[in-house]
Amino acid sequence: MRYDVLIIGGGPAGNYLASLLAGKMKVAVVEKKGSFGGKACTGIVGVKNYERLEFPKRAVLNSVRGAVFYSRIQSFEIERKSPQAYVVDRKVLEKSLAEGAVKRGADYFMNTAFTGFKNGKAVLQHLNERFEIRADVYIGADGVSSTVAKAIGARSRAEFLSGYEVEVVGDFKKDFVEVWVNKEITPNFFAWLVPVSESLARVGTFGDIESLTRFLRIRMLDPTSIIEFKAGSVGLGWRKPWVSGNVALLGDAALQIKPTTAGGIVFGAICARELAKAILSGNLQSYERSCSWVKRQISFGLRLRKLFLGLSQEDIEKVFEVLGSKEAREVIETQADFDDHIRTTKAILKRPKLLAKLIKVSPSLIKALL
Ligand SMILES: Cc1cc2nc3c(=O)[nH]c(=O)nc-3n(C[C@H](O)[C@H](O)[C@H](O)COP(=O)(O)OP(=O)(O)OC[C@H]3O[C@@H](n4cnc5c(N)ncnc54)[C@H](O)[C@@H]3O)c2cc1C
Repeated sequence: MRYDVLIIGGGPAGNYLASLLAGKMKVAVVEKKGSFGGKACTGIVGVKNYERLEFPKRAVLNSVRGAVFYSRIQSFEIERKSPQAYVVDRKVLEKSLAEGAVKRGADYFMNTAFTGFKNGKAVLQHLNERFEIRADVYIGADGVSSTVAKAIGARSRAEFLSGYEVEVVGDFKKDFVEVWVNKEITPNFFAWLVPVSESLARVGTFGDIESLTRFLRIRMLDPTSIIEFKAGSVGLGWRKPWVSGNVALLGDAALQIKPTTAGGIVFGAICARELAKAILSGNLQSYERSCSWVKRQISFGLRLRKLFLGLSQEDIEKVFEVLGSKEAREVIETQADFDDHIRTTKAILKRPKLLAKLIKVSPSLIKALL
């Protein structure tokens, strides 16, 4: 069997790339699971990019237009007039993208795992059967523990975090998410509550399972109302190279993920667009260069993450005083962007009063952001 492009991994990144290339090239996708979805993921995606990337509307379960931020002793609300983020059904998202790709001519090999390269071919395992596929270009879109990344000797300089998430039945404000920044509950990340409907929410955090248990208790969510539990991991940092010979990494396999929130669907899809252009132009090497926007966001996000890890809860309370002020809320409500954290942070730091107050909290780290 021979293809122009063999995509390893049928997650959002791999399926999106397949949908972009199918019909223009001979494309195949191998997916080790027997069905799509099932990964631990809150499925919150910025509206602007969701529309821009032309993701399927039928995967949208809910839209949110605001957020309530809680620290240990304070809270403030950000309210926008229009929806800022969608909450999506991952299975429907992945399956719809795959369906579109197959309709345009892509071949799918489900229940088929990539195990390595041999003599320039991909070695695959389907049930008890081993077979090989040759392609001109191979894409590793096989997630954070990428076998393709290992096969090309890619190296990671990253913080790997375990994430825990539940779906819980309760009474929720349908168009507002909750973000809890309290190191006494979740020492190394924030905890989130994202409504799927008025009566169902996805609640999670990164760190350890005790952090989630503590959060559920403090948020007064009944453990016996949990109807789904999932765990997964993310890598915040760099994995290099993204291209080696005729092999490229995409999505979580390349750690294309926001270090501030661990959201990876949009960054993976933006890079998939650049990768599709590079493949179609026959210049795979241009892929990494053309993802410069995502790279700048990751680099800036890592600085924000470092800043967050260096703050004590007392510092966080001071940051909340600043961000909860009328002036800061006005800036956030008019200029914040769900995916562009450079733009959002710069808009805040451009205000002299806000900048002066934030510098007092952590002079060296805020200066490092400027
Ligand atoms: C708890 C948690 C919450 C999250 N919440 C959000 C969120 O709200 N919004 C957001 O944008 N992101 C979120 N993320 C991150 C998001 O899930 C990832 O960034 C996204 O799934 C990356 O997509 P991907 O296609 O690159 O990889 P994946 O979704 O991991 O897909 C990789 C695919 O490759 C397959 N595969 C793996 N190995 C092989 C192999 N050897 N052969 C063949 N196939 C293989 C896997 O079965 C899988 O289907 C969250 C992550 C976690 C852990």
